[in-house]
Amino acid sequence: MGEDLEKLKQRLPLLDYLRQQNWVARTTGHGSEFVGLCPLHSETRPSFYVNARKNLFYCHGCGQGGDLLRFVQLSRHLSFRQSLAYLEQQSVPLTDPADVLEPTATFYQQQLDGYPEALHYLKQRGLHDHTSIKEMQIGYAPGGSLRRHLTAQGYSCDLLQRLGLLDSQGRDAFYRRVVFPCCQGGRVINLYGRSIAAAFAHRFLPGSKGGLYGWEQVQQCPEVILVEGLFDYAVLRQAGFRHLTCSLGTHLNTYQFQQLCDRPRTVYLTFDVDANGSGQQASQQLAHRLRARGISTRRVLLPEGHDPNSFFVQGGDARQFQSLLEAAQP
Ligand SMILES: [Zn+2]
Repeated sequence: MGEDLEKLKQRLPLLDYLRQQNWVARTTGHGSEFVGLCPLHSETRPSFYVNARKNLFYCHGCGQGGDLLRFVQLSRHLSFRQSLAYLEQQSVPLTDPADVLEPTATFYQQQLDGYPEALHYLKQRGLHDHTSIKEMQIGYAPGGSLRRHLTAQGYSCDLLQRLGLLDSQGRDAFYRRVVFPCCQGGRVINLYGRSIAAAFAHRFLPGSKGGLYGWEQVQQCPEVILVEGLFDYAVLRQAGFRHLTCSLGTHLNTYQFQQLCDRPRTVYLTFDVDANGSGQQASQQLAHRLRARGISTRRVLLPEGHDPNSFFVQGGDARQFQSLLEAAQP
């Protein structure tokens, strides 16, 4: 029981649970501390604090505090044992998701070469180098075969559904998607699937996307290029740029932002230059927030209407991109 409880708390951090319950919080600026309105008593000024590192909460309004189990007991009026049973049922299974996501990612990688439409799509997006594709562990989810593959290895449909790999009807959730594994601490914690057909373009599995993509390789670098999309990342990497990371969207989560601020460095912000200016607006705001934390920033200005991916797809090369880096404005 004790060990299960520790595993459960690791698997389901208090902050993640609260966010699943729609708790809205902001960082206090002190390490990994967050504050928001107390879900346990009625209040108008936030006095409910969560320390994400210690995985504990405390409310200065009602004086309640403790860990995830304590929170469930108080908020759902359950005993300790009932709370544990509730969390085991409700939330993620006690299996480490990575134990299932890793064989899934491997399976998708094995599929890639057998599907010309997937290779064709990668080529269209400027990715042709076999070594880069292999290094990034890019795979393909044709749909309709993952369930058979994983259940044959003993994974239950129930578990696969809870992880979001199967939909509520028990079918493969990723269908005709190019798949990038997202890793943290050397383990796969989520999968990004880019549709090559008409389906909704971008999909992740439920749960955390984790921090910045590829962060562990560049954490020590004094200069880092930040892009918003994995195909931007992939073409730059293929072109030989190594000090790269990707925020998986223009909006960085708190953890990603903290990663960029964890030591003095220069960040080259390379977001889309789209017609409505949203990429550049996000880039400016982020530059402002980073500078407030003592991080130097340079905004890389791609030609109008371009992101790094389209820049390379339409004939841009490493030398030209290097000149853009050198011309980047503070
Ligand atoms: Zn309270």
